[in-house]
Amino acid sequence: MSRYKDAQCRVCRREGCKLFLKGERCYSDKCSISRRNYAPGDHGQKKAKLSEYGTQLREKQKTRSYYGVGEKQFRKYFKMASNKKGVTGENLLQILESRLDNVVYRLGYGVSRSEARQMVNHSQFEVNGKKVNIPSYLVKVGDVITVRESKKDNSTIKANAEANSVRPVPAWLEKDNEKLSGKVIRLAAREDIDLPIEEHLIVELYSK
Ligand code: SF4
Repeated sequence: MSRYKDAQCRVCRREGCKLFLKGERCYSDKCSISRRNYAPGDHGQKKAKLSEYGTQLREKQKTRSYYGVGEKQFRKYFKMASNKKGVTGENLLQILESRLDNVVYRLGYGVSRSEARQMVNHSQFEVNGKKVNIPSYLVKVGDVITVRESKKDNSTIKANAEANSVRPVPAWLEKDNEKLSGKVIRLAAREDIDLPIEEHLIVELYSK
């Protein structure tokens, strides 16, 4: 278990920024990025200059790591984003934000996206009254995401729901702490997404 957790911090150190993969620890001074902000490995402290392709590739990998999405799924999202009206990079981020596991995380029911994904996998949530256990389910405007009745006593969910002050709920979602639910008021706009992603680099990479 500890090796796995360490591996998550190595991903952050590789990307040179916080990816918030481990929940509470990410907001504390135990965060590896605060203590050792250089790439892992023997040559990690040497600053290698990245090529244009390398920079674009790192940005894509970083974004995939933020959302915990595999390459195949990520490409699929990129295709969906390019087929939508508007700016492709922004569309891509909006699609990623709309994933059910991300929404559960954004609502504060999971401390990290991976915990939120596990909760969804374990059938702890419903959308508009129907059980949904697919983390990649894309929410729509008006959708109501609720902790299922049988899971409302789950201590992890309750504790997470109360301790989300470090991570305010974004303006595109409305949280109801009483009902342990959340509503999608609108889809996420670029300014709602607090991640330091240069999405144009991803568009450039996939447009080659
Ligand atoms: Fe580890 Fe910090 Fe990254 Fe969280 S943000 S996974 S604690 S390096």
